[in-house]
Amino acid sequence: MKVLVVGAGPTGLTAAVELARLGLSPRIIDRRDSASTLSRAVGITSRSLELLSKSGVSEKLIAEGIAVQAACIYLDTRLALEFPLHSDRTYFPTILGLPQDRTESLMAQVLSGMGVEVEYQKELTFLTESEGGVVAQFDTGEEERFDLVIGADGIHSTVREAAGINYPGFDLEEEWSIADVDTDGWPPKRKFTLVKMASGVVAVAVPLGEGRHRLVASCEDAIGAFPMTLDIKRVRRQGTFKISVRQAETYSKGRIHLAGDAAHCHSPVGGRGMNLGIADAAELAARVVAGRLTGYSELRHRVDKKVIDVTEHGRKIVTGQSLKARFEFRALIAAANSLPAVRRKLGQFAVEL
Ligand SMILES: Cc1cc2nc3c(=O)[nH]c(=O)nc-3n(C[C@H](O)[C@H](O)[C@H](O)COP(=O)(O)OP(=O)(O)OC[C@H]3O[C@@H](n4cnc5c(N)ncnc54)[C@H](O)[C@@H]3O)c2cc1C
Repeated sequence: MKVLVVGAGPTGLTAAVELARLGLSPRIIDRRDSASTLSRAVGITSRSLELLSKSGVSEKLIAEGIAVQAACIYLDTRLALEFPLHSDRTYFPTILGLPQDRTESLMAQVLSGMGVEVEYQKELTFLTESEGGVVAQFDTGEEERFDLVIGADGIHSTVREAAGINYPGFDLEEEWSIADVDTDGWPPKRKFTLVKMASGVVAVAVPLGEGRHRLVASCEDAIGAFPMTLDIKRVRRQGTFKISVRQAETYSKGRIHLAGDAAHCHSPVGGRGMNLGIADAAELAARVVAGRLTGYSELRHRVDKKVIDVTEHGRKIVTGQSLKARFEFRALIAAANSLPAVRRKLGQFAVEL
């Protein structure tokens, strides 16, 4: 079977690795000149590690990543809650911190070991379904027929456009900021830290490796947003971004199937974007090989929708300034502080989501 995977982000790479592991030889293309150097997603969930363990990718990720041990919540400068990020019901007991460019690089290494190389500088420009196949057109002017196409080409997916699949949802107006920094001292090394300010701004620090952190804030300055002094040795990258919450109306149309950001996007609260893409891709690859594509769209649409709804609810509680949002946030902290079982459940929920 001739399969084309469009996009060599974490979703496309997972699809290609799983297809190759299960005996197919997919083509995987990306319009970039070479592998990405952007650190984007920094938290790998246990579910992703479990899915990637069969190909040997997880071993490499775990060897290089940092196990995040606990979460701390500050109200301005006061530590209001700390709980362990731990589940003993999962493949990996916590969340693994690793920059996305390293995750992609380790996936590409495993793929290469299976005899499949990413074809960079190759852009899909259009797709046409014809009897018995899909004809892909590339920026080089070439055309080629495939039995099946996987659109893992991100939020502005050409595959989704060409298939005429709608991507309904909304875009948030406010600008968020991000910074990757080398640190020494505060923020804590193996802890996820969330600071909620009385002003309504929320700032988050996630460990990326020994002495390296990702900072994110719901305002334009991820470093200045923190009310405490950060021990920053070097700023590696800084920028702003906007949040969209969207989901494709269907993930499958004929021989064309969507996965990852091409199928859905949401806020970074909960850090699930990349992980949902990995799960979509693993499910899709297994179904391609088993010839069971019916039901892929329904299943993944339902599962992803649940996670999008939970993360949206989380974003509103964490960043919300309404009385209800503030009450829910403080009630959660009070309950967790007085009941060890609630602290344990919170940690389990974060690891298992
Ligand atoms: C600043 C930032 C921080 C983030 N933080 C987190 C986080 O902490 N946790 C988390 O889980 N997620 C996070 N995300 C989201 C996460 O990065 C994405 O969900 C993830 O990259 C999606 O992977 P993907 O493979 O589906 O798409 P992408 O990573 O976007 O990959 C798509 C690939 O397709 C290629 N492509 C596009 N069009 C074409 C074409 N026509 N032809 C050929 N190739 C094409 C692109 O070059 C790209 O390489 C963050 C995102 C951003 C921007």
